[in-house]
Order: sequence, then structure tokens, then C-alpha cells
Amino acid sequence: MPHVGNLLGMIEPALRLQHSHDAFYFIADYHALTTVHDAERMRTYTREVAATWLALGLDPARTALFVQSDVPEVCEIAWLLSCVTGMGLLERAHAYKSAQGDGRELNVGTFTYPVLMAADILAYDSHQVPVGKDQKQHVEMARDMAASFNSRFGEVFVLPEPLIRDDVATIPGLDGRKMSKSYGNSIEVWADAKALRKKVMGIVTDSKGIDDVKDPDSCNVFALYKLFATPEEIEALATRYRAPGLGYGHAKQALYEVMERRLGAPRERYTALMADPISLEAVLEDGAARARQVAAGVLQRARHATGLRGTPRKNVGGTHPAT
Ligand code: ADP
Repeated sequence: MPHVGNLLGMIEPALRLQHSHDAFYFIADYHALTTVHDAERMRTYTREVAATWLALGLDPARTALFVQSDVPEVCEIAWLLSCVTGMGLLERAHAYKSAQGDGRELNVGTFTYPVLMAADILAYDSHQVPVGKDQKQHVEMARDMAASFNSRFGEVFVLPEPLIRDDVATIPGLDGRKMSKSYGNSIEVWADAKALRKKVMGIVTDSKGIDDVKDPDSCNVFALYKLFATPEEIEALATRYRAPGLGYGHAKQALYEVMERRLGAPRERYTALMADPISLEAVLEDGAARARQVAAGVLQRARHATGLRGTPRKNVGGTHPAT
């Protein structure tokens, strides 16, 4: 379930790019499999992510939306990349280091995660990859792997550049720290109106009373309000903070109203999409067909460059070739 940090920090900035770029967006189910080991949860996750992007404005006629595992070519590209990638590069990956630091048991998929991520980028001849600062390392690793492959086998992969969204602020959660699933301080985008209001009412504030003047710039409620209100509304609420008569309950009600104004209509679209799996499936199938065509071409190039045989179409469904 996406939270407001994902919405404002990732989904909306990515959706803005669909007007100026030819973009591919996929639902990372192969990656999710490193931690999600429950088929029903996986199916639900896939549907929820697809419905989320469509409800928030992804235009499937312009932008291919597909499920990662509908393009199995990426797994083969990942294998080709893993054969030119040093262990040291993966050992330096943030996610691996932090899992190791916590002493968590790791599966191989988690360790090789960056290789699959690189394949996801390189399979589509991507020139630019929109990421937050926290994900820049993954694009750099994809670039390193592509360069390492190309230096051995010729110009097969396009070297991708990160398109860093440095205009995107860190969205604070209910307690003022960065909103994150792992802190339990999130506001879910698809919470219904009642649950949304309850979350907003739970935002942590200082203990100033209704007649104390307040500082909007150090208030968690105001920080979120600024993300959803118009400039005039922000100015008006700031003025009320600086004068007696405004309780935090009033500020929270104002925040709830501007959030509901923005999220109410997409929530209805989301609910309708979740109730219509056939339409959702049609969008994903169409997206996968477009993505697969590109990925199959890139894979063919890579196989040819390495001396592997061309994609063995004739063998599909047949017996194992004689060795
Ligand atoms: P979480 O921290 O809740 O696990 P994820 O790591 O799944 O979030 O977030 C996916 C993407 O959403 C991140 O790469 C980042 O770009 C964006 N994002 C997540 N939380 C925030 C936040 N609080 N503010 C801004 N962007 C965020």
C-alpha cells in the first residue's frame, strides 16, 4: 500500500515525466519475491500497484505499464550481466550492507538484486532513469555493469544516466521523521476518508493551547498542509498559526480537508479498478507486449555479442537440445 511519501516523492514526479518522455513503468514482482513468499499476497500486490498508478493518472496509451515477470528476458539479461560483475560491486550495495549490518539472513536474490535491477534498466535501452537520491547507486551500478559488458563484447547496452529528482523534498510522517513503512508513521494514500481523518488527527504536535501563538515552520501538521494546499491557503493558515485562536485540532481538520480534496477522486478510481480485474489485466498485457518486444531485441543483441546462440525459438516446448 503506497503512503503519502511514495505518492509525492516518487509516483507524482514519475508521472509528470510521461508527458515529455517515452517511459516504461513496471511492477517489480521479481524483486518483491526476495521477501514476499505468499502467492495470494503477491497477486494482490501486483493488482494494487497497477491500480495505484492508473488511478493516479498513468496514461496506458502513452506509457507502457507492465509486470516485471511478464518480460522474462530480463532474467536472462541479468545472468549475462552477472558474468561480468565483480562480487565486490554487489558487496558495496546499500541494501546488502544494511541487511548484513542488521544480521538478517539473506537469500541470494537479495544479494544479486542490483543485477536484476540493472537488467530492468538495460533491457529497454533506457537513456535516463528517474530516481530519488537514495536510488542513485543502483543506476550507477547498472552503468558500471553495462560498461563492463560493452568493454568485453562491444557496444550492446546503452549506458543509462540517473535523472535525479532533487526538487523532491523528504515527506515527513506522523511523528515528523521521514515518512516510511519501517517507522510506522505513514499515511496510506488509499485510506478511506474516515481512516485518513483518524491518521491526520494522530499527527504529533507540541502541547501549545488554543490561545498560544504557534510557529507554522516547526509544525508537522503545517509541513504536510503545505504539500496539499494552494499558496493562498498556506499563507492564510500560517497567519492563523501566528495569532491566538487556532488549536492544533483546527489545523488538522484543515489538513484533512485539503488531503481529501486531492485524494478523494483518485481513491474512487482506485476502488473501481480493483473491482475490475479484466480491464486491469488488459492494460498489463498490452504493456508487457510492448516492453517484451524491446527487451527481446536487446537480448538478441547481447546473445549474439557473447557468442551464445540466437534465441532458440524452435526449441520452445521441445526436448532439451542434444549435448
Ligand atoms: P519506505 O521507506 O516506506 O520503505 P520505499 O523505500 O518503498 O519507502 O519508497 C519507494 C520510493 O518512494 C523511494 O525510493 C523514494 O523515492 C520515495 N519515498 C519514500 N518515502 C519517502 C518520503 N518520506 N519522502 C519522499 N520520498 C519518499
